[in-house]
Amino acid sequence: MNNEEVGKFLQLHDIKPSHHRIRVFQYLVDNKNHPTVDGIYRELKAEIPTLSKTTLYNTLSLFVDKKIVSLITIEENEARYDADTSLHGHFKCNRCGKVYDIRLNISSFNFAELDNFEVAESQIYFQGLCPPCQKINQG
Ligand SMILES: [Zn+2]
Ligand SMILES: [Zn+2]
Repeated sequence: MNNEEVGKFLQLHDIKPSHHRIRVFQYLVDNKNHPTVDGIYRELKAEIPTLSKTTLYNTLSLFVDKKIVSLITIEENEARYDADTSLHGHFKCNRCGKVYDIRLNISSFNFAELDNFEVAESQIYFQGLCPPCQKINQG
């Protein structure tokens, strides 16, 4: 997505496309590694010296409110952001800390017990060791 496309996409979701917002959203689209606020801030600060942490927080919560970005909280003290809002699970490796996307086959789940509930959001998490880290563990 180029600047113009991101701008249009934001407008489509009732978000005024300021320079900061465009760059933050673009960063999330380009970096599907589920960055934390600190990570995004570190990366964008060099390029946008006027970006403050408050602006970044506000921008990210606006994106989450408008549902164009998912908030992932595998750990309570560590919010991560994902521009992929399709329903998918996440696997966090306890060794390297990487967060992997896990594609789900929704049709194979039985959600019958949810019939009388109105679902606003769903999150599916796994934790353990990713394949490269299992190899390291084996020596
Ligand atoms: Zn790992
Ligand atoms: Zn994801």
